[in-house]
Amino acid sequence: MFADLHLHTCFSDGTFSPEEMVSHGQQHGLSALALTDHDTVEGCVRADLACQAAGIEFIPGTELTAEQEGNELHVLGYLIDIQHPGLLAEIAKFQTVRQNRIREMVVRLNQVRVPLTAEAVFALANCRSPGRPHVARALVQAGLCTSLDEAFERFLKKSRPAWVPNFKMSAADAIHLIHQAGGVAVLAHPGLNHADEVIPGMAEAGLDGIECFHTKHSTATAEHYLELADRFHLLVTGGSDCHGLNKGKPLIGSVKLPYQHVEKLKAKAAERKSAAAIK
Ligand SMILES: [Zn+2]
Ligand SMILES: [Zn+2]
Repeated sequence: MFADLHLHTCFSDGTFSPEEMVSHGQQHGLSALALTDHDTVEGCVRADLACQAAGIEFIPGTELTAEQEGNELHVLGYLIDIQHPGLLAEIAKFQTVRQNRIREMVVRLNQVRVPLTAEAVFALANCRSPGRPHVARALVQAGLCTSLDEAFERFLKKSRPAWVPNFKMSAADAIHLIHQAGGVAVLAHPGLNHADEVIPGMAEAGLDGIECFHTKHSTATAEHYLELADRFHLLVTGGSDCHGLNKGKPLIGSVKLPYQHVEKLKAKAAERKSAAAIK
């Protein structure tokens, strides 16, 4: 039995609906799926229903944008209570920040004579957690760029004309928020963020796990993080980080996490839930 614990849908910057995501998971024979859209839990209700219909175990999740020592980090929250008022209030703040960031990116595009409107981006994104991939898609749709890569290279990458810094919470706050909502906090794709030096501090702040297996982690990278997880007594997770058809072929199925890690995740969540209930 295998799981994919890192998936995005159209509720953030993925292209699949929750139902399409689950149907792809079924085609790959996965036994458990976690939805981890950026700074939102909105897709979880539909993904849960689709999983139930497909006989797949559903793990509610989110991927919070955070920062540690000036570096952007992503913190995955698993088995959170998706109705938790504190979590929903924080998420609403992040979504406002994301929407304002889109407006600012459009202003900067207009300054370099790229005639895109924020409304065009919001209409295309059609979700509360819009991000740069939506701006890229809107640029392509308006015929202002020929590909998503070109949009990032010319305008949207850091240090390009339309790049706008992103407000982020600290990694410790992200971990705390996930724990408050009864969930398990996992550092996403550390190999992409060169995040080794922040792991000891995050472990001290209560980090529960490391995403060792990821589409962009080589075998050597995965082994390196398995060692670190062992050293800091952290759980091991993994997922494809599939964004649907954003990058051509869907990535779901490219990472298959052995189910034993899901068992450990669930045991940890039960601990976190009783701790959250006592507080
Ligand atoms: Zn991420
Ligand atoms: Zn992701």
